[in-house]
Amino acid sequence: MGCYDSFMLKVKCPHCNEESVIEFQTKEFSCGLNTWSVGHVFTGMDIKEGIIRNVYGGCNSKKCRESEFKTLGYNSGFGIEVVCDVWIKDYMVKEALNIRKELKEFHKSIKR
Ligand SMILES: [Zn+2]
Repeated sequence: MGCYDSFMLKVKCPHCNEESVIEFQTKEFSCGLNTWSVGHVFTGMDIKEGIIRNVYGGCNSKKCRESEFKTLGYNSGFGIEVVCDVWIKDYMVKEALNIRKELKEFHKSIKR
């Protein structure tokens, strides 16, 4: 997958509706293999409040694994793709927003 940073975010999967903590990746920052969790200081850039757009992860719930297997014929290990935006507030990771099934905008991944 190359280099990336990631966010650990609790989300309700838009495919199976199960809530779980998913690792969401982005190539937007230092590619330092950082992992930021909710409530932790976000060190990817100096930003007090803003939204990091289009981070992507995979749901590996039983249902999503089964539906992936049906589609691919095997399990990739990544799971079924889930995309969201990350709200940064007071320099900290606040929560996942706009949890959705796929990437809709490829441009402008950071909105200040
Ligand atoms: Zn799922």
